[in-house]
Formats: sequence, C-alpha cells, structure tokens
Amino acid sequence: MLKFIGLALLSLIALSAVSLLPPEQDRNLAREIYQQMVESKSGYSTGETSSIARVMAERLKSAGFPDSDFRVGGAKDTKYNLVVRYHGTGKRKPILLLAHTDVVEAKREDWSMDPFQFIEKEGYFYGRGTADDKAQAAIWVANLIRYKREGFNPDRDLIVALTADEEGGGPYNGVDWLLKNKRGLIEAEYALNEGGRGESLDGKRIANDIGLAEKTYADFRLEVRNKGGHSSRPVADNAIYHLAGALYRLSSFAFPMQLNEATRAYFGQMAKIEKGQLAADLAQAAEGSQEAMKRIAAQSPGMNSMLRTTCVATQLEGGHAPNALPQLAAANVNCRIFPDDTVEQVLAALKQVVADEQVAVTVKVNEGKAPPSPMRPDIMKAFSQITDSMWPGVIALPSMATGASDGRYLRAAGIPTYGVQGFFLDRNDVRAHGRDERMGVEAFYEGQTFLYELVKKLSTPGE
Ligand SMILES: [Zn+2]
Repeated sequence: MLKFIGLALLSLIALSAVSLLPPEQDRNLAREIYQQMVESKSGYSTGETSSIARVMAERLKSAGFPDSDFRVGGAKDTKYNLVVRYHGTGKRKPILLLAHTDVVEAKREDWSMDPFQFIEKEGYFYGRGTADDKAQAAIWVANLIRYKREGFNPDRDLIVALTADEEGGGPYNGVDWLLKNKRGLIEAEYALNEGGRGESLDGKRIANDIGLAEKTYADFRLEVRNKGGHSSRPVADNAIYHLAGALYRLSSFAFPMQLNEATRAYFGQMAKIEKGQLAADLAQAAEGSQEAMKRIAAQSPGMNSMLRTTCVATQLEGGHAPNALPQLAAANVNCRIFPDDTVEQVLAALKQVVADEQVAVTVKVNEGKAPPSPMRPDIMKAFSQITDSMWPGVIALPSMATGASDGRYLRAAGIPTYGVQGFFLDRNDVRAHGRDERMGVEAFYEGQTFLYELVKKLSTPGE
C-alpha cells in the first residue's frame, strides 16, 4: 500500500514538472527562425518588415500549413504583417499570439558589433531585436510548427500575428491596420503579447511578470505668442519668461497617487520579495496607504511612474534672433497617463498648473486610452502554475507598463491583452532600444518552453 502511494506520488511529480528546455529539434528550429529575423533589417524608419512576413509564410507552408491559413499584407508594401491560423475544434474563441517584427534603429558605430548580425557569445544572443521583440516572434512561429508536428488539437484556434511598426506607431502600424481592415483575421477572446518578462537580480530569477495594463502616451504643447520688439527696449511681458514661469510651476507639481487592480496586485506581490521597510511599505501601499505610497514613489522614478500620471518637459523652442524680443516660446510636455485617467483630465490639470492665460496648452499627440485587462482567473492560474513548476520560488507578478505597446490598440478595441514572455533578464541591465541588445541563450529557450506550455494549457479542453 505504502509503495503504491509512493509510486502514485512520484508519477504525479513527474507529470507536473515541466522540462525547462524544449526538445533539441525545436530549439534548433526556434534559433534558426530567430537568426533569420534578427538578420532581417526591419528598422522602424529605414527598414522593412515584409521580408520576414514572406519568409515565415514559406516556412509555415513547408511545415504543412495550407495557403488558406495565412495572410501576408499591410498598410504598404514594405510594412507587411503575417497572420497565420492554427485550427482547433472551435469550441472557444481564438487566442491571438502577437509580436512585432520591426525594431528600433541601430547604428553600427553605436554598437560594439554589427547590430544586424546574429551573434551567440558567452551565453547570450546579440543583435537588434533579440529582446524586443524578435525572440517572441520567432518562438510563436516555432511553437506553432511544433504543435502541428505533435498533432496538438486545441479547443480553439491559435492565431499568430507578426506585425509592423510597433516602434513609433504611426500610419503603418500593423495591429492598427489589421483592426481597421481585417479584423476578422485577428478577432480573439484575448491576446498574448510582449510587455511582461522575467526579472532576475544578480543571476537569481525572482519574478515572472504578466502585463495587465499600460499607461497612455500623450504630448502637450505649451505655447506663448508675443508681438516682440527690439531687445534694447525690453518689457516685462516676454514670451520666454511666461513659458519659463509655467515650466517652473510644472516642475514642482505632481499628480495624485492612485492604484488600480494591476498595480495593487503588483505592490502586494513585490512585498513578498523585498525586505525590511520597503516590504512593509509595499504591503501597505497595496492596501491604499498614501503615506506608504509616498515613500515608495520617492524610492525610484520607476515606482513613482507606477503610482501616478507623470508629465515632464522634453523639448523647447523660442526666439528668432539674439537681438529681438521673442515672438514665440514653446515647450513639449510629455505625459504618461495612468490608464484610469483621461487626456482631457490631464489637459485641465496642466492648464491649472500653468496658471497663465498667455500660455496656451494644447494636446499635440494623443495615442489613445486603453483600459486595463482584467485579471482573468484562467489566465492567472495557468500563468502562476507554469511559472511555479518551471522556476519554483519565482513569484507571478502582475504589472502595469509605464511605456506603451501594441497592446493598447487591442485593449481599446475590446480585446484584452496580456504581456507574457517568460524570458528572464537582469532587472538592472535591460538593453531593449539600446546598445548591444541581447537575450540570454538559456532565457530564450526557457521562454520557448514557457510560452509553449502556457498556450497549450489555455487551449486544452478541461484545463
Ligand atoms: Zn517591443
């Protein structure tokens, strides 16, 4: 009897433990696709994404996907997207697996190596896009091919969309284009996207983030016009002084602190991995203590940004000659708006802070508000279980991104979006958009397993 129980327990453990690395052939496949993508010059302003879309379509075709299951197209011929559908039983609505294939520009002279050459060195893959966002793009494709080979029969369709122009958004953004022109291709119950990652500290994995919300991006223009005149006869009513006064008042202004479901959960979980006073503050902040929030905000710009809308002066212009009174003085103020606030509220607040009728405040860029995605129990459970099984002791960490991603288009269109990746990167060495961008080799393959297991669990009947 005892022996039986022992055996049963053993087999249970064997069943629940997830191997960290995918089978060799799938690792090789993912690496090959990844290399192809990284070496494809898809810089946001100088490159193109169509090659990646076409090459991936060919790959899927040779892996047995019929022509009718994928589409290549986009806002213009250099900015194509690829959408491919893996058919399930159709019992539930599809899941959309999203990744962008464009990258931030990278100049050879800014890097210590060629940014568009895929290099494996000392445990890392180097190249522009290795972290943002070609690892996830490559893995979505490799995992779809693996499901096919294994004969996986999900209870819903899995849709992979590799899209253009996430960096900088703009008129050729693939997600925006698909929503406006081919929504049926990507219609889904929810989407999985970038915007969540694994966090390591000093080589130790500590948290696996799941992105539930993101702040809204908006630019405001502060502008003063004046009739000007000769600078040898100055007057008090000076455009530059009006603007300077307004910016000075803005510099000491802070928006009120607040919480939403995502940040409340974030602070609550962070309290478990931090120590001492900070841990206590985080726990109290999660309960709504303004005093604790204030101490946390003072700790770091990142924490401050998680707690409130922020606005900061980023550009200046003004004056037309050294010997003339200025006829124009203007500034750009960039705001990252808490998802529960509106651009109109921020505009009203800025006008109040500026407190000068000569300073006109207008909205210059409004990237649109995206509601936070709900903490769905099915997703949270699958996410935590797989995290726990792959990396015991690592916490699942709900989060709100202070930057923006393509998730905003989907969230605004009513498709909740979750940032999940499972790639562990050092918290203090994030190189996306920067020099010598890289991804740990181990982190890449573990992420491949994580995403494989997560999608499988979310599309298996009875799970
Ligand atoms: Zn990205």
